[in-house]
Amino acid sequence: MTLFERKDVASKDLEALCAQRLRRARWPEQVKCPHCHSDEVTDIRQYMDVFQRYLCLACGRTFNDKTGTIFENSKISLSAWAEAAYLLTADQPVTVIAENVGVSYPTALRMVRELRKSSLLHTLEEVVREKRFRPWKRLGFESVE
Ligand SMILES: [Zn+2]
Repeated sequence: MTLFERKDVASKDLEALCAQRLRRARWPEQVKCPHCHSDEVTDIRQYMDVFQRYLCLACGRTFNDKTGTIFENSKISLSAWAEAAYLLTADQPVTVIAENVGVSYPTALRMVRELRKSSLLHTLEEVVREKRFRPWKRLGFESVE
């Protein structure tokens, strides 16, 4: 199975799981508005199937699970970010990350730089380790089995 076939099969469940972990990491107790830090927040609707959208009752602004994170304006799926995080913490070079995640070298390089700065690096990397999705055997990754 190629990387892209695997993604098509797994993408929605995996994306939902990554979104759930992101929520839990950002707001372990209660969702807080990233604009004004109020916890007077109400769910309004789903966003792209797996993300939750919120309305802040204090400042009236809306936000979602990704607002204010490195993933906010990214077209790359959270599960692809998770793969990159995993490979990065496994000390893999950018070329390997680009190939496995299915992005260009400059994109992979940008992802690595963002991930290195982010407190969410390990949150996503853990999802990959726990779910044991493993497209990396051809690169010698056997350890997650
Ligand atoms: Zn607010």
